[in-house]
Amino acid sequence: MATSGSTASGRLRALTVARVRGIPIRIHWTLVLALPLFAWLMANAYFGGTTATGWLWGAALAAGLFLSVTIHELAHSLVALRRGVPIREIILLPIGGASIIEEPSRDPRVEFAIAIVGPLASLGLGALLLAAALLLRIPIAVPSTLPAPAAFLLSAAFLNIMLGLFNLLVPAFPMDGGRVLRAALATRVGMLRATQLAAALGRGTAVLMGLAGLLIGNILLILVAFFVWSGAKTEEQAVVVTTALDGYTLDDIMTREPATIPADATVAQALDIMLETKHLALPVTHDGRPVALLTAEQISRVAAAERPTVSVSAIAAPGVKTHEPREPAPDALQDVVTAGLVAVVDATGRLLGIVTPTDIARTVQLRMLAR
Ligand code: ZN
Repeated sequence: MATSGSTASGRLRALTVARVRGIPIRIHWTLVLALPLFAWLMANAYFGGTTATGWLWGAALAAGLFLSVTIHELAHSLVALRRGVPIREIILLPIGGASIIEEPSRDPRVEFAIAIVGPLASLGLGALLLAAALLLRIPIAVPSTLPAPAAFLLSAAFLNIMLGLFNLLVPAFPMDGGRVLRAALATRVGMLRATQLAAALGRGTAVLMGLAGLLIGNILLILVAFFVWSGAKTEEQAVVVTTALDGYTLDDIMTREPATIPADATVAQALDIMLETKHLALPVTHDGRPVALLTAEQISRVAAAERPTVSVSAIAAPGVKTHEPREPAPDALQDVVTAGLVAVVDATGRLLGIVTPTDIARTVQLRMLAR
């Protein structure tokens, strides 16, 4: 699957195990815990039980499955990179993998290409493994009745084909099938309507999956149902906001002549400015140019007694995301969400205004009202 970055994968605790074309591939800690369980499940399902050899082959197949998931995600990520869509990371979880997209494309054709290539890669890999099994004259039979190496090859082929089909045929975000469907609909009815339709279908699918999971007692299916349910909601909200901002430039929505904090001010002075303006984040400026970002949270970490002597530049996060006033508002959305504030500057770098989540929310609310 491919999902957008606002789900804050930065908060996930994960271990970077490799980098491909600059994309970090990370394993979530829950997957590390779940791997022995997967090895046990696979030993039982494909290698005739949990003998020592069964365990070993089960572990090898579990590792092979997550390598397959990585290949699936790399297919998404590499096509995204080629279409100019930056990828933050690939993350592997017990329920599968995700390519975290920095800023999703709003072109349905690009989304279609990124979404469909993952399942195609899995189906292709499955077909290759199956062809190899046929070449080696391995009979297509229940794996647990075959010698372990033959069972391994056949099961790996089967799992890749299932991975491709499941991702493609479940018509729900954040599964690939949901994105393929949305992209196909969007060329006809527009992005907002397509997302609402796809999200509704996704919620229906999630309910069915959850019920099926409860009926057959499959915890994995119930987890995926939750995942699909929340994915539909997140995706719909993101598109509602982007659509509401459509047609606006940053100049239209920014807070003009915002309060700023001089770089040589003390923390106590900065706090006074914040109290006066009721803003929780403000740009720190030097010669009228934004140089850093100061938040109320940073101030809270300085003891009250030290605030009159500590300088703002000692605690503010250096660097501010800057945008030009003529830029379309949706283009800055991701930066506003991740940084909490972007500075709008003129050609010489002078501060014209700021855009915060409050500015975005106000615009969306007024636009909805006007509709
Ligand atoms: Zn996928």
